[in-house]
Amino acid sequence: MPTDKLTSAALVKLHRIHRQLGDLRGRRERGPKQIAVGQTNVAKKEEELKAAKETLTRAKVKCDDLQLQLRQRESRIEDLKLKLNAANSNKEYQAIKEQIAADKQANSVLTDEIFEMLERIEDLETKVKEADAALTRSRDDLKSLTQKVEGERASLEADIQRLAGELHTAEDELPGALQAEYKRLSVSRGEDALASVENDVCTGCYTAITVQMKSELKMARPVFCKSCGRLLYLPED
Ligand SMILES: [Zn+2]
Repeated sequence: MPTDKLTSAALVKLHRIHRQLGDLRGRRERGPKQIAVGQTNVAKKEEELKAAKETLTRAKVKCDDLQLQLRQRESRIEDLKLKLNAANSNKEYQAIKEQIAADKQANSVLTDEIFEMLERIEDLETKVKEADAALTRSRDDLKSLTQKVEGERASLEADIQRLAGELHTAEDELPGALQAEYKRLSVSRGEDALASVENDVCTGCYTAITVQMKSELKMARPVFCKSCGRLLYLPED
């Protein structure tokens, strides 16, 4: 039932309900956003693991290829050694000998390269393991976040319903003459429909109120901030 008197207690209560409602609605909106961020993170970690595995595979293929080259050249060296024994001339003998030396030199370079490659493969295997662990972590995080958000949703929904009801009741208790203007503000601005006055300043926009506004507030009349339009009230104490 509307009353004729506008008490600052009524406005304080109204503002408190508004703020709580705003907070709960904010939490309700935040949950799905946090889940979406978690899902993006999991997708990113999946990509990183995939990329790490691909790099490792490429390195292994390259290493296998180098080892094959090494073995092929080793068997060619063996062939050349046989040819060396069967050489018909000194010139041929020298040519084969030079070829063997060149192949041995090339294989020495290749052996170093393979050694480096094996070390690189070890590093890459560590990176794959790390990426795999990071993916598991991000999946676990998402799972617990989702459980938390899902678990809170029902009680959040119930609290919002309850507070919306309380807000309605408190609004209906405002003086009838004020209701139309207040409700328009309440619908469009939520908790920003109201502001307390502290040290003669509107706490919504930090504009000073006039002497006349202050005396009207003290007489419990509805006063709107001339700057931001909020319905003003004096703190209860
Ligand atoms: Zn203001």
